[in-house]
Amino acid sequence: MAMIIRGKSLCHICGLVVAEGDEIQLFPPALFASSSDAEHLNDSGVHLACFEALPEHDEAAAVLGAYLDRREAGDDLC
Ligand SMILES: [Zn+2]
Repeated sequence: MAMIIRGKSLCHICGLVVAEGDEIQLFPPALFASSSDAEHLNDSGVHLACFEALPEHDEAAAVLGAYLDRREAGDDLC
């Protein structure tokens, strides 16, 4: 999963600093296929509001949700 240092790291979408208290979304590397519109989100951290405003949000949220479900179930993700 990507790493964000609040007060230093930049949002991958808007380029602004991720501040204390900002709601964020992190993405692991290689989550999205290179053919996906959400490929640019791989291994990134973004403001939640920036993510929600993306045209590819729904597709990306579905892929991320499935990933997190598998992780919670303890499935091997490698
Ligand atoms: Zn942002």
